[in-house]
Amino acid sequence: MPEGDTIFRAARALNDALSGRAVTHFESVFQRVARAASDLAIRGRTIERVEARGKHLLIWFSGDVVLRTHMRMHGSWHLYAAGARWRAPRSDMRIVIRTPQYDAVAFNVPVAELTSGRELERNQSLSTLGPDILTDAFDAAEAARRIESTPDVDIGDALLNQHAIAGIGNIFKCEALFSSGIDPFTRVADLSHEDIARVVERARRLMRASVAGRRVQFSVYGRGGRACRRCGAAIARRKDAHDARVTYWCPRCQRRNVAANARTL
Ligand SMILES: [Zn+2]
Repeated sequence: MPEGDTIFRAARALNDALSGRAVTHFESVFQRVARAASDLAIRGRTIERVEARGKHLLIWFSGDVVLRTHMRMHGSWHLYAAGARWRAPRSDMRIVIRTPQYDAVAFNVPVAELTSGRELERNQSLSTLGPDILTDAFDAAEAARRIESTPDVDIGDALLNQHAIAGIGNIFKCEALFSSGIDPFTRVADLSHEDIARVVERARRLMRASVAGRRVQFSVYGRGGRACRRCGAAIARRKDAHDARVTYWCPRCQRRNVAANARTL
């Protein structure tokens, strides 16, 4: 699953390359999208902007038309100079948007919809998104409030709930909880308001650093069985029962009794 920071970076690169440009060619293997593109005469419209909202990527065209894509596990957008060879097979192509200078190609994107801005705002998965952790206007207090509204959920799962806080994926969930000294399987109800505010703040700081292009060295993610860089204990890993997601944490640095532990970090 791409993290919000990956989608945020993709949106920024696409926006820099495409905004203000006219579409010279549009194609999609999704019949509904291809039909809508034809009905809406996408060719000839100008790309106004590209933005990330949570894990959705929105491409706005002139005349209030918008292409929404969601990457899920394997989707990605690539940007190529016009005529350059693609780095993924054509069979993985789902959408191509061509301008005189660039080809923007969506590969393996499972969710795509071409619609109007007004329709988009009615889309449940967008209109109910929590505050977006990567935006300048991020409302940390509202995100904390939404997380606290599900007291029986483990904090690790609460951070992935896009309706509470949008943009965090499994990697930064694990890293932010490590940085905060909080065990991922602690119930929200067992955390203080300060604990929740801290983990939100750490997640935002780590993800913004990643967006800014700074290489983030992972403390726990992908390090199951290896020594914790802080205390030397073996990093634990646990696979989620419902999907393939694996949670990593340090059983010594991250405690459920956070109040006692936080002082030692
Ligand atoms: Zn440790």
